[in-house]
Amino acid sequence: MYARPGTVEEAARAMAVPGALALAGGTDVYPAHAGKPLSVPLVDLSRVQGLRGISEVDGVIRFGAATTWSDIIKADLPPAFDGLKAAAREVGSIQIQNRGTIAGNLCNASPAADGVPPLLTLDASVELASASGRRALPLSAFITGYRRTALQPGEIVTAVLTPKPPAGAQSAFVKLGARRYLVISIIMAAAMVVKDAQGRIASAAVAVGAASPVAQRLVALERELRGLGPGARPSLLVAPRHLSPLSPIADVRASADYRLDAAVAVIAETLDRATGLV
Ligand SMILES: Cc1cc2nc3c(=O)[nH]c(=O)nc-3n(C[C@H](O)[C@H](O)[C@H](O)COP(=O)(O)OP(=O)(O)OC[C@H]3O[C@@H](n4cnc5c(N)ncnc54)[C@H](O)[C@@H]3O)c2cc1C
Repeated sequence: MYARPGTVEEAARAMAVPGALALAGGTDVYPAHAGKPLSVPLVDLSRVQGLRGISEVDGVIRFGAATTWSDIIKADLPPAFDGLKAAAREVGSIQIQNRGTIAGNLCNASPAADGVPPLLTLDASVELASASGRRALPLSAFITGYRRTALQPGEIVTAVLTPKPPAGAQSAFVKLGARRYLVISIIMAAAMVVKDAQGRIASAAVAVGAASPVAQRLVALERELRGLGPGARPSLLVAPRHLSPLSPIADVRASADYRLDAAVAVIAETLDRATGLV
């Protein structure tokens, strides 16, 4: 079966076929089936109305599921989304950014998915639809493990939602790979920082990817950053004790110890960028 629905309702009906697989940009689906026939029922989401684009409704920023990384790079968004835009620029190459979608990145649930850390710092949630209705889940509950999500059979993601960040929020994303371009992350970090009128950090969100089955927020570091005055350099606070939520593996890209060492430097650089120090 190859279905190309025009509406979310039609897509949900097509997804009710047992074993149906959603297809967005195909940049994860096709490589995963390289050399093998793609024999599952496919539901091509590329023609579904309203699934692509960025809008703001009632204080919520809505990224349609089929919004591509290139759409995000080009979008007129406040500095709180600079981290997400920087991540978008790091997803593969321009060709991949033109095809690959925000929802595809989340549903693929790779530990090295570059979109996840910035979206965690933005407190994103995921909107889902199926033949039996709609629901929303925090992103932190949507990705449940290594390449596992809370998607139920027959369900599709319709949007990624973030609350409108406070005015003045700044953000950054830093990725370390084996080379500068077109590479899977060894480690990456995202940060969003909000300062009060006195220049003190009112709130901070820091997330790290590629160092655990699912990207993690570093809550203890966030707590220590809160209240830091304008004279202090937040990046100097970052220490190995903040990395306890991480559980990196050793693989062809790096050893676990290297990932932990690199995490301290990458988080520090991310904080410097998010606070305008570099
Ligand atoms: C050469 C190359 C380089 C890459 N580099 C990077 C990189 O640097 N960083 C990075 O993070 N990723 C990278 N990727 C992976 C990929 O491009 C991204 O994860 C991309 O965002 C996937 O989006 P897609 O639309 O192509 O997903 P697809 O391949 O269409 O789908 C991926 C998964 O999500 C599911 N899915 C898609 N949309 C929905 C939906 N709306 N509802 C329910 N399920 C859905 C599909 O069923 C499938 O399981 C790379 C891929 C390639 C081929």
